[in-house]
Amino acid sequence: MRLLLLLGAAIACTAAGPLTPAPGPARIVGTQGAGCIAGAVRLPDTAPGMQTIRLSRSTFWGHPFVIASLQTLALQARAAGLPDLYMNDISNPRGGPLLGIHASHMRGVDADVWLDVVGPHPVLPPAQREDIEPISLVAPDGRSVVASLWRPEHVTLIRLAATLPGVDRVLVNPAIKRQLCNVVTGDRRWLRRVRPWYGHASHMHLHFSCPAGQGECGDQAPPPAGEGCDATLQWWFDQLDLPSRPAAPAPPARPPLLPAACRAIMAAP
Ligand SMILES: [Zn+2]
Repeated sequence: MRLLLLLGAAIACTAAGPLTPAPGPARIVGTQGAGCIAGAVRLPDTAPGMQTIRLSRSTFWGHPFVIASLQTLALQARAAGLPDLYMNDISNPRGGPLLGIHASHMRGVDADVWLDVVGPHPVLPPAQREDIEPISLVAPDGRSVVASLWRPEHVTLIRLAATLPGVDRVLVNPAIKRQLCNVVTGDRRWLRRVRPWYGHASHMHLHFSCPAGQGECGDQAPPPAGEGCDATLQWWFDQLDLPSRPAAPAPPARPPLLPAACRAIMAAP
């Protein structure tokens, strides 16, 4: 660790790590809970169909395939008549632990997209992007979405995300998943990729599989077969009946130990 700090002193750093990507071709190292990335690229602040938000607090670096895919998602959403997507956290320039609040987002293959489909979303100057707050779609009791806030466009946006090539999972609140289970008609196979998780009441989390050619990148097991509109979803609501309501797992008390190759990536000039 001391060596890392000494080497790190030669490049611009914050507590979150270097402010620039490690040079070289895109290279993802590690697993969802402990990893990093070299050769990351940054999502533009503004692009057709999207804006990044909370620029001072967030970070928008990812694998080039992921960054291109997010811009494709934005174009698809625009073509479907949705307002600009608000893009939030992806990863630090070299990955690693992000903000102390994310257990993932370490390798440039995770991205948070707000579930805000009510336009218009005019292009905001950076200062105004700091102040907007997402609205929770989930009722306070956690059992359903707020009917007055739910729109067909939410289905469109989550479907586009879940069918984007390379996306492994889309995490949403269990109440949002249940709503999708109830309202989606036609081809429902994409529901498999939409998984319930704590929080995620105002944004969805896109998780991409390891892009092609990333031999040092470890994938999760794929989602279970089926739509997931079954007892595994009901489990989340059964927890709400328990005396103490479930809370999201606490972030690890200390940062995970990154693979040795990540220490070299973090220290690269
Ligand atoms: Zn996320």
